[in-house]
Amino acid sequence: MIVAGNWKMNKTPSEAAAFVKELIPRVKGAKSEVVVAAPFVALPGVAEAARGTNIKVAAQNMHYEAKGAYTGEVSADMLKDAGADYVIIGHSERRQYFGETDETVNRKVQAATAAGLIPIVCVGESLAQREQGITPEVVRRQVKIALLGVSAETLLSSGLVIAYEPIWAIGTGKTATNEQANEVCHTIRMLLAELYGAEAAAKVSIQYGGSVTAANAKELFAMPDINGGLVGGASLKAADFEVIANA
Ligand code: PEP
Repeated sequence: MIVAGNWKMNKTPSEAAAFVKELIPRVKGAKSEVVVAAPFVALPGVAEAARGTNIKVAAQNMHYEAKGAYTGEVSADMLKDAGADYVIIGHSERRQYFGETDETVNRKVQAATAAGLIPIVCVGESLAQREQGITPEVVRRQVKIALLGVSAETLLSSGLVIAYEPIWAIGTGKTATNEQANEVCHTIRMLLAELYGAEAAAKVSIQYGGSVTAANAKELFAMPDINGGLVGGASLKAADFEVIANA
């Protein structure tokens, strides 16, 4: 079980470190892995504030090249050195506003695992795709391309996480029903079984994301194919994230 808060473009470095300090006592008894995904510039301070606690640190994006003339970009090694354990890859906002594609997601997954960062790979359909009834095809294609060239050994040793986030549920207050969320997470698990075998598929954490709140987290996380959540808006409030992380 893994619960990750994606702060998106919120919190200055000082606000972020103060927030982690506020969070520490609230989540110290959580049975799930607790992760906070901070803006790049806040990572060192967040990592410092979280040191010695059960809070793990994630970046929200990375570049797939190790170094070079890529102005404004940040590599996996830089994130590791700044204190990140995880990195979110292919969030729908990156795909929608910053030209992220399944192919760049795949390159980032390869670079992240090679650097020892745990990728949280985001996939999910748009409302139009859901209404057209093509959710399983869309999500299968996204996962398949994201994992191209990733061996079963790397899949498991990296701890790679897949986050199913229907785009129509992100930041909209429209949560998928428990059944809708579980159905797609199950589709993903079946695909992993096709690609890597049932035993490996059972070991991969699949999160649900999309308007997870303190009120609905427990039921969602109790579904058989859902192993936790990726939480946006509700992760910005310590009291709400506390409930979700302990759900
Ligand atoms: C997200 O950004 O990953 C997300 C799920 O956002 P929200 O919880 O605000 O819908």
